[in-house]
Amino acid sequence: MGHNNDLILRAAEIIRRGGIVAFPTETVYGLGADAFNPLAVARVFEAKKRPYFDPLIVHVAHPVDMKKLVKEIPLNAQKLTERFWPGPLTVVLLKEEDIPDIVTAGLPTLAIRMPNHPMALSLIRESNSPIAAPSANLFGYVSPTTAEHVQEQLGDQVDLILDGGPCPVGVESTIVSFLEGKPKLLRPGGVSLEEIESIIGKVEISRNKEGTPSAPGMLPSHYAPRTPIVLDWDDQSLVIDKEKNVGLLAFREPRDHLKFRHIEVLSKKGDLREAATNLFAAIRRLDRWNLDFILAETIPEIGLGRAIMDRLRRASIKGEIN
Ligand code: AMP
Ligand code: MG
Repeated sequence: MGHNNDLILRAAEIIRRGGIVAFPTETVYGLGADAFNPLAVARVFEAKKRPYFDPLIVHVAHPVDMKKLVKEIPLNAQKLTERFWPGPLTVVLLKEEDIPDIVTAGLPTLAIRMPNHPMALSLIRESNSPIAAPSANLFGYVSPTTAEHVQEQLGDQVDLILDGGPCPVGVESTIVSFLEGKPKLLRPGGVSLEEIESIIGKVEISRNKEGTPSAPGMLPSHYAPRTPIVLDWDDQSLVIDKEKNVGLLAFREPRDHLKFRHIEVLSKKGDLREAATNLFAAIRRLDRWNLDFILAETIPEIGLGRAIMDRLRRASIKGEIN
C-alpha cells in the first residue's frame, strides 16, 4: 500500500496543478481533472476527443461535499445517496453558480457521484477538490475496465494512470435526475432500477427517439468496437457464410461452438453481476480477432441485465449480417 500511497499523492498533486489522471473506480476507469479548473477539464475533453455537448460526472469523496455543489437536495435524492453511496449511482441536481460551464456542457444541472473505490476516494480527498471525470476511453469506444485498456488508448495523453486492477462492477453508474421534483432514470447502470424503486417508488424512464434511456450527450450509437456487433439475430434460422469470420458474445456457455471463430462467455453460470464485470473486456478481446462481425446474445432485462442490454444496443449495428 505504501507504493500505491505515494502514487496517489503524486496523482493528487498533478490534479491540483491542472493535470489529468486516469484512475480506477468500481464501475470503469475515469479520466479526471479538478472540477473547478476549466482548462484542466478542457484537456479531458481533448484527450478523449469528446464533444463539448456531453457533460461530465463530478466525483466527491464524501456525501456532504455534494451540498456545496448544488442548490438543494430533494428528499428522494437524499434517500438514494444514503442507501447507495459510495456506489454506482449518479444523481443529477440543480447546480451551484460556481461550477464551470464546461463541466455541465452549459446545463443548469450537475451530475454527481461518490465512487466506491479506495484509490478513487483517496485521490479525490488528496486533491482537495471534486474531480470531474468521464470514462477514460476515446469518445464512442468501449469503456475501460483495466489500467491496460486506458494505456492502450490514452497512454500518451494522460499525465498518470493509477492501476487498481480490474473494476469490480464493470458497467457505468446508474444516472437518476431530480428536476421538478420527479425522479427520472437517464441511464441504467450498476445500481438496478428495482433497487432504486424499492427505496423511492416508481421512477420514470427518460427515452430518446430510439426508445433507449437517455441523458444529454448520450448517443444511440456508442460503446462501439471496430467490429460490427449484431444483436437481433435468431439462433434457429442462423446460417453463416463459411467464408466469414464470426465471433460470439455469449451470456452463458453456448451449445454450438463450431460456427464461431472466437467465443467470449460473459458468465458460465449465467450470473448478471459476473456478466457486467466481464462485458467491456470481452468486447475488446473480440475486437482484436479481426472478425467480420460479432453476434451478441440478448440478456434478460432484470437487475444489471438492463444496463448490459443498454450498452449492447448502443454498441450494435442494425441490419443485415451476411
Ligand atoms: P461517462 O462518464 O463517460 O459515462 O459520461 C457521463 C454521462 O453522464 C454523460 O454522457 C451524460 O449522459 C451524463 N451526465 C453528465 N452530466 C449530466 C447532467 N447535468 N444531466 C444529465 N446527464 C448528465
Ligand atoms: Mg463514457
